Parts: sequence; C-alpha cells; structure tokens
Amino acid sequence: QGALFAFLYADPAAHSLSPAMHRAAFAFAGLRGDYQAVRVPPADLGAAIVELRQQSILGANLSLPHKETALSYLDSLTPAARAVGAVNTIISREGKLLGDNTDAPGFLAALNDADVSADGGAVVLGAGGAARAAVWALRSQGRQVVVVNRTRAKAERLTAELGGRPADLHEVNWADVGLIVNASSAGLNAPEASPLPDFEFSQLPKAALMYDMVYKPAETRLMREARAAGLRAENGLGMLAHQARLAFLAWTGVDVPVQVFLDALHAAQPPALQG
Ligand code: NDP
Repeated sequence: QGALFAFLYADPAAHSLSPAMHRAAFAFAGLRGDYQAVRVPPADLGAAIVELRQQSILGANLSLPHKETALSYLDSLTPAARAVGAVNTIISREGKLLGDNTDAPGFLAALNDADVSADGGAVVLGAGGAARAAVWALRSQGRQVVVVNRTRAKAERLTAELGGRPADLHEVNWADVGLIVNASSAGLNAPEASPLPDFEFSQLPKAALMYDMVYKPAETRLMREARAAGLRAENGLGMLAHQARLAFLAWTGVDVPVQVFLDALHAAQPPALQG
C-alpha cells in the first residue's frame, strides 16, 4: 500500500499544531502517512479542495477562514456539518468529498473527559463557528443553553437556528448554571481581554465547569478567575485533541487514543504554554 496523505487548509497555517498530532497518530496506528499544513488563501480554496479527490489522499482539515466557505465545494455533508453550517474535516472517498464537523463531537468528548455533571444549564459565550458547534452539541444532549454574545443579533440568529435562547449577561440566572463555555475569540490575541467584564464566578454553583476553548495560555484569564472562586476550569486542548482524533478515525478507521494527540500537543508547544 502507498503512503496516505492528509492536509490542513488554513490561512495562516504555519503555527498549526495539527501536523504534530496527526503524524503521531499515523505512527501509533502503524500507517505510512503524512499530514501537512498548507496555507490556502481564500481565493484558492476551491482549487485546493479539488486536489483532495485524488486517490491516496484521505482528506483535509479546515481552519480559519475556510470552515464555512468550503461547504459549497463538497458533494455531501454529515448532519453535524449541515446543522452547524461549518466543515472542519473533509473526507475523500472514491473521488467524492464528504464534509464533516468534528469540533462538535470533539467538544462533547472533552466535556465527557472533564466529567461534567448533567446538572444545570450551559452558558455559551460567543456566536461564531465554534459557538455554533458547541450549541448544536449541547442541544443534541438536551441541555438548556443560553448564548451571550457581544453582538446580540448574532446570538439571536444562532439560537433561532440551533435552539437555546439569547441573553445579556444581567439576564442569566447564574445559580442554575453548571457549565460556561467560552467560544469567543476574546483573549486570543489579548490574553487578559474577557468576554465577561466584571464578572463574579462566585455566583455559580461550586460544581460548575468553566470550559475555555482557547488554549494559549494554558490557564486563560477566565480559567484563573473561575478557579479562584473554587470552580473547575479546563482549556481547549482536550477539544483540539478530540476533534483531531475523530478526523483521523473518519479518514483511516483507526481510533487512536486521545492521549496520543494530547502528548503530541504538549511536545509541540513551548513549555511555557503547557497545561
Ligand atoms: P469567530 O470569529 O467565528 O467568532 C468569534 C466570536 O468571539 C464572536 O462571537 C465575537 O463576537 C466574539 N468576540 C471576539 N472578540 C470579543 C471581545 N473582545 N469581547 C467579546 N466577544 C468577542 O471565531 P470561532 O468561532 O471560529 O472561534 C472562537 C474561538 O474558539 C477562538 O478562540 C478559537 O481559537 C477557538 N476554537 C477552539 C477550538 C478547539 O479545538 N479548542 C476549535 C474551534 C475554535 P461578535 O459577534 O460581537 O463579533
């Protein structure tokens, strides 16, 4: 059997941690394969996706800014990708391209690892693609979801499509909340920025979890504040590892343990960023 290939299409792509994860997975699975991050500017996405139809190509992951625009280039979509309206994994099989979204089940798997109790509603901060994946995933589990977003109209659109309800911070009944998910990009380039200005985590039950999809730094401002109030907090590395595991599983049929992906992430990150 010849070598197998998979790609990340993103812009920028240079600092992606995905090649480290998927190369470790190929090695663990005993498969001859490689994974490369390719910078694909938006104007080149259609041509880059056509390339995936070749035999020996397993597929690709998509990241910013392609997750939504890719939909029109694919032959079919999984229910998760269609509902979320975003594709992070393309599966190439016999010349046909299937769009999937492994962020949503990857997020649920990470929550499962964190052993989140079923009690209490969830508050999702943000209303972009990551928030859509989180809301769809949480609603599929029957959870109550409130979406808080800087631009309220986007939270209204999201909840009209995927369920849950939009709210401003002061409208949330925090004593009933078991989970806060930060799916906003606040803090991504300014680590001390917060989508929760002047917020007291002590308003939440102690069993609640603060799940921050951001993973640099390993302890974000939201995580630090939640822990200071006695709550549990997790960063987004678990979700990143599980979305990769699920993509690799869809491509190869091999369910490589998530620890292989987590170990690759920790090895690839400078020590200062490790959790
Ligand atoms: P989008 O650009 O689609 O959405 C960004 C969201 O963040 C919007 O709702 C925006 O609000 C909000 N936002 C941005 N800046 C601020 C701010 N200063 N204060 C309050 N809200 C703000 O991004 P994505 O949904 O693709 O990604 C969101 C985050 O999730 C990123 O940090 C990304 O790295 C992370 N992520 C992590 C994954 C993982 O595996 N761990 C997977 C996917 C994403 P508004 O609508 O008002 O502009």
